[in-house]
Amino acid sequence: MPQKYAAGNWKMNGLVSDLTEVLEIDKGVQDLACNTVICLPATLIYAADGDPRQVVEIGGQYCHPSASGAHTGDISAEMLSEAGAAFVVTGHSERRTDHGETDADVRAQTEAAWRAGLVAILCIGETLAQREAGETLSVLAGQLKGSLPDGATPENTIIAYEPVWAIGTGKVATPEQVAEVHDALRAQVDPEMSLLYGGSVKAANAAELFALTNVDGALVGGASLKAVDFVPIARAL
Ligand code: PGA
Repeated sequence: MPQKYAAGNWKMNGLVSDLTEVLEIDKGVQDLACNTVICLPATLIYAADGDPRQVVEIGGQYCHPSASGAHTGDISAEMLSEAGAAFVVTGHSERRTDHGETDADVRAQTEAAWRAGLVAILCIGETLAQREAGETLSVLAGQLKGSLPDGATPENTIIAYEPVWAIGTGKVATPEQVAEVHDALRAQVDPEMSLLYGGSVKAANAAELFALTNVDGALVGGASLKAVDFVPIARAL
């Protein structure tokens, strides 16, 4: 069975004072069998590493392909690891859009994550136009082929299906839509690799998504910022 993950993505949110929420999440998930990861802004990772957490693991949200070098404003997987991250998101659609990251970039970042011993949470997802054109499965297959490096294992990689039109919009994909995609993805990756859904996941819709055969958890944006919202999602897993 693939590992189950309740993963949070704080995006560009949070100051050190907000790390109390991570501690609250930690308290709320201690008795659960699922893995819990919160992907923090890079500035918070080292501070979070010093906090007395029991089970919640920490991730970054991006890493440069290189370990070091003349790349102003960038951050390497080695830096994230040293600061206390064990995971890193690669290929999030906001990075693909805001920073023009291509599948080849995401592949290189994912390899960098592995080099530093991080687990990559590799995101793929179709736009609304692609879905309406009936291209969802072919777009996702193309992204997976282009961005998932050879050597991916259930230990070093988690796949997150995040339809772009469902992220931060309150429009969650229907269980039928998620099942169709996750069943197709399962046929393309290792049977033990965790497949997460992301896009407007909340306590109110988590249980019906987690009931699907090939959904092994969620990558949660807005509802991961507060323990009161995130803990019930993890508890639904
Ligand atoms: P959302 O974001 O839960 O706020 O829709 C999900 C994500 O982008 O990972």
